[in-house]
Amino acid sequence: MNFNKDNKSKKYLRQLAVNKKVSDARQDGLENCICNRKRGLIFCASCQKSFMGRTAERCAAHPEVAYLMDARNCAFCGAAGKDLRMTDPI
Ligand SMILES: [Zn+2]
Ligand SMILES: [Zn+2]
Repeated sequence: MNFNKDNKSKKYLRQLAVNKKVSDARQDGLENCICNRKRGLIFCASCQKSFMGRTAERCAAHPEVAYLMDARNCAFCGAAGKDLRMTDPI
């Protein structure tokens, strides 16, 4: 077995995954992971306000997929993601 060759092909596969765009990712079984989580009310523990959206989370299965609309900071006071809490999806 040629380990060197094997490593190269794995690296190539990983680069392919990185180059994938969000539109392709839907075919990778996103239904059951946090990529497909619902929008809802986000509560900010810092300013006690809430707003609609999703907290930004990096999916372990699809780390290459980034959702630009996800909230990384509070829309009102700009608090970091650690102060944002998702409430139940509506
Ligand atoms: Zn995912
Ligand atoms: Zn806030």
